[in-house]
Amino acid sequence: IIGTNKETPTTLRDIFISVKTTSKYHVSRIRLIQKTWYALARDETYFFTDGDDKELNKDLGGHLVNTNCTTGHSRRALSCKMAVEIDFYMASRKRRALSCKMAVEINFYMASRKRWFCHLDDDVYLNVPRLLSLLQKYNHKQDWYLGKPSLRHPLEVIDRENPGMKIAFWFATGGAGFCISRSLALKMAPYASGGRFMTTAEQIRLPDDCTIGYIIEHLLKRHLTIIDQFHSHLEALYLIKRHQLEKQVTFSYSKYSGKLNVLNIDGFSVEEDPTRLKSLHCILFPTFHECQDFPRE
Ligand code: UDP
Ligand code: MN
Repeated sequence: IIGTNKETPTTLRDIFISVKTTSKYHVSRIRLIQKTWYALARDETYFFTDGDDKELNKDLGGHLVNTNCTTGHSRRALSCKMAVEIDFYMASRKRRALSCKMAVEINFYMASRKRWFCHLDDDVYLNVPRLLSLLQKYNHKQDWYLGKPSLRHPLEVIDRENPGMKIAFWFATGGAGFCISRSLALKMAPYASGGRFMTTAEQIRLPDDCTIGYIIEHLLKRHLTIIDQFHSHLEALYLIKRHQLEKQVTFSYSKYSGKLNVLNIDGFSVEEDPTRLKSLHCILFPTFHECQDFPRE
């Protein structure tokens, strides 16, 4: 244990797992989560989205939260200049929508009174037992911000309070997952709960995961602890070796302009498992029902 811990050991029930999603991914991404790691952390996992989906909500035991963050927009024929303006507007709308979601996630977590808040994107595979053994090493009564940056350097932004000056801080990429201890979450409340997260996000005009880093590193002067076992699709996922899989906490996948960034593992066919997450799940947890037909060497 890092830091003294006279508490009872952390169990899965002490962890709040919060997944950010959006209506268009309910079928593709959430169904994949349901078929894989979700079975290991049903009661602990909540999904934060932007539209109603009664059927999915029922399947998730009422854990689908409609944040009502985005509103519809009308489509018009646009001149090129207007298109640029609108792009700008959409970007800020998305930023606002996402940080609104994060604000709702944080409020739910606060209400849950759990020891740890862990945020994931909906294209993340969570190795649930590994997450638990990781968090058991840290005392939730101390301030911990665990995650993995995607930049090799701190993020630099201009300091609005001191014109001409810059501030620099590290942040954990939301797409790799990050966890915050309760002690730290309580200190973040003045900047992050009760709608204030959006105000903070608007002040620095950055995405929600950067805002988290800004609050913790810059405003609260606590530091990010880098966990190498968290992996977003901003890393080359095929570099993770087969024998290292069990030790990793999160994985992801992506497809940009036709190019896949996925784990390089054998298993189900590419047609059946383009993201490789079903195969990963069966390598980690071979006794699962979904793994009955898993091809083994
Ligand atoms: N997302 C969202 N609203 C949107 C678009 C994306 O909440 O309008 C969420 C999405 O569900 C995911 C995260 O934001 O959890 C990142 O989205 P995505 O993986 O599509 O993009 P990335 O930023 O990783 O390229
Ligand atoms: Mn992503």
